[in-house]
Amino acid sequence: MTALSDLIAMRIRADGPMPISEFMHICLMHPENGYYATRDPLGRGGDFITAPEISQMFGELVGLSLAQAWLDQGAPTRFALAEAGPGRGTLMADLLRATRAVSGFHAAAELHLIETSATLRDVQRNTLSGHPATWHEHHGTLPDLPLFLIANEFFDALPVRQYERAGSLWRERCVGLEGGRLRPGLGAPLPLGGLDHRLEDTRDGDVVEVSSESAAVAKAIGTRIAAHGGAALIFDYGDWRSLGDTLQAVKGHRTADPFEAPGTADLTAHVDFEALAHATPSAHSRLTAQGVFLERLGITARAKALARRLEGAALEAHVAAHRRLTHPEEMGTVFKVIAFHPETAAPPPGTTP
Ligand code: SAH
Repeated sequence: MTALSDLIAMRIRADGPMPISEFMHICLMHPENGYYATRDPLGRGGDFITAPEISQMFGELVGLSLAQAWLDQGAPTRFALAEAGPGRGTLMADLLRATRAVSGFHAAAELHLIETSATLRDVQRNTLSGHPATWHEHHGTLPDLPLFLIANEFFDALPVRQYERAGSLWRERCVGLEGGRLRPGLGAPLPLGGLDHRLEDTRDGDVVEVSSESAAVAKAIGTRIAAHGGAALIFDYGDWRSLGDTLQAVKGHRTADPFEAPGTADLTAHVDFEALAHATPSAHSRLTAQGVFLERLGITARAKALARRLEGAALEAHVAAHRRLTHPEEMGTVFKVIAFHPETAAPPPGTTP
């Protein structure tokens, strides 16, 4: 038992079974014992690894795509360069290094980082030393400027609710207690107008996931882009319209039981990109596989250039990292990117053929 399993069990005894979204929120965000509050999950001996931690090429190419979008919109002389959930700050550091050669980009950029974890803010401060930044708890405090934003594996950390189809009704999957242990169970069948469109592509017993927080963040970011200009590049694993129970716990690079030892494993759910696209009032690009995006931006040429300076184990690791980011059997297809952009501007390079 962990401190959080006691707390969750106590709440369930008082209020009844808990939506998965509330469970995720407590596990990840509890100020003392939450997963993100208590550790650096990406550090040495961490629980999982992300694209920017695999290779510098990821952040470099993302940076050049974003800088090209900035140029395409007339290179506004002041803009917010923002990241949601910057982790160790590696993606932003690689982006900043790659865009040094883009004339005027750094001078115009104000760096804004949306991060709730104090532990990770410290790591970011260290990684990005030399680049003054403003940290935000929430996107709501971003300045009213053109917004050029990146987010990698951010939306998958936002809570989802789960519903299992029962005829034309839905039963919410909730966390309850079974013999004193936390276990998932199903609520009573209810009509849910917000899920009418899912009656088309689901059958009895199918689970669908809804993240109202993700939709709210996508709407807020897209509203800023529509009003002030800018672009957002959002990377995550998931699909256009997610189907099935994708709640996953990862601990020490292995999947774990999400209901065992809450607060000690990373919890994520696949991103429903259709829901993000529908929530944004800005225009959006097509959903693009990460491997395709990186190939369009020339990752192979960049990989070859970097390989010239490497040999032995370092060269092997570099070749493996390139494959890991782009290959369909690795992160190339499961991970996807969607861009938000103003109606009047082109989407960032890499997101269109
Ligand atoms: N983008 C990084 C880290 C991904 S891990 C990378 O690719 O390596 C998820 C990140 O989102 C962490 O920095 C975590 O602290 C942050 N995060 C999770 N939920 C958040 C929320 N609701 N608000 C702000 N940051 C959040």
